[in-house]
Amino acid sequence: MVLGATGSIGSSTLDVLDRNRHAFEVLALAANSSVEPLIDTCRRFRPRYVVLRDEGAARELAERLPAEGLAGIEVGAGDAALCDVAAHPEADQVVAGIVGAAGLEPTLAAVRAGKTVLLANKECLVTAGALFMDEARRAGAAIIPVDSEHNAIFQVFPSAGHVAGVSGIQLTASGGPFRARPLADLAEVTPEEAVAHPNWDMGPKITVDSATMMNKALEVIEAHWLFGLPPERIRVLVHPESIVHSLVEYLDGSLLAQLGHPDMRTPIAAALAYPDRITSGVPSLDLATVAALHFEAPDFDRFPALTQAFRALEAGGTAPAVLNAANEVAVEAFLAGRLDFLGITRVIAATLDAAEPAPADSLEAVRAADARARERAGDILAREGR
Ligand code: NAD
Ligand code: MG
Repeated sequence: MVLGATGSIGSSTLDVLDRNRHAFEVLALAANSSVEPLIDTCRRFRPRYVVLRDEGAARELAERLPAEGLAGIEVGAGDAALCDVAAHPEADQVVAGIVGAAGLEPTLAAVRAGKTVLLANKECLVTAGALFMDEARRAGAAIIPVDSEHNAIFQVFPSAGHVAGVSGIQLTASGGPFRARPLADLAEVTPEEAVAHPNWDMGPKITVDSATMMNKALEVIEAHWLFGLPPERIRVLVHPESIVHSLVEYLDGSLLAQLGHPDMRTPIAAALAYPDRITSGVPSLDLATVAALHFEAPDFDRFPALTQAFRALEAGGTAPAVLNAANEVAVEAFLAGRLDFLGITRVIAATLDAAEPAPADSLEAVRAADARARERAGDILAREGR
């Protein structure tokens, strides 16, 4: 089952599935509102169910499918239907590829139903990490990271029970399109420049997150929950080529890495087939052609998002959910031309300052903190924005 089937992760997943039809069957697809691409995907994969969050779009799809010769595919609509399909008894693996905090509830439904969850939606762990991992343990759900850095760590991490030998992890970051841009010039960058990532082809929100380095910031929090490591054992390493996808440090001085082309089909295929391997469509890497790899320490002054994430992680409770919500509001405003680039982390800082600390011990607490943070970020934007 693919949640977020029309997005960048969804399309890469379907590409890998297409190459491995003997091993997988697509039970269901879910997305927000796009009808046209889903009709194509239905033709290719003949799923049993399609669910759209948007009810109008779902009605349109339900009318169109029979006319396209695709009768028999059941169409669902709305948030409750998304959660139901994610927990469908016949689904084994659920790819969590919805963008943003909207992905939390359907993904949690899959976790509670004990599915193997292939997790791309990092916002689940950022907003509700403790809750999410507890529910997974309780339900016996396996969480397999799809995010390339976390999948790399997953590939080289020792098997459960031997984590005592791990001294830390290093998350690599390309540094995004503005890695070398002086602080004074960052105020002027446009949404068009920010959505042009030098190495990865991704959805617009995560591409802006890469430009502010908020993506890496969210990934620090994601790694904390996935691998059970304290913040001081998680480091960020800038690596402009995006070939080394992350590293695990061991007590004996060993540093193990996973390398490959920057193409999400590799981590998706590794997650789908785990512990086996399948083809992904990504060619093998010729290091002689790559020739040189570069690494540098991140610049916390030009990219304050990194410091904000470490602080939110230290503060705990709902602070990471507040950070995430403020970021979603600020990125949307930036993409719409209502906020300058440096305003993104300014809005986040002001929202974090205004938030009261609260424990993130229930979905309701997380939802309430998320809603309050969106409201506050909106107010701050009204003052800060243009
Ligand atoms: P995208 O914008 O390309 O696609 C988002 C998908 O989510 C679409 O199918 C859309 O229909 C669906 N969606 C959006 N809002 C929804 C809602 N309220 N209900 C149901 N469906 C909804 O995003 P993407 O780049 O594919 O990213 C998806 C997730 O994967 C994000 O959490 C991102 O951080 C993570 N991720 C992406 C990449 C990448 O290379 N694109 C890499 C690592 C992690
Ligand atoms: Mg990543």
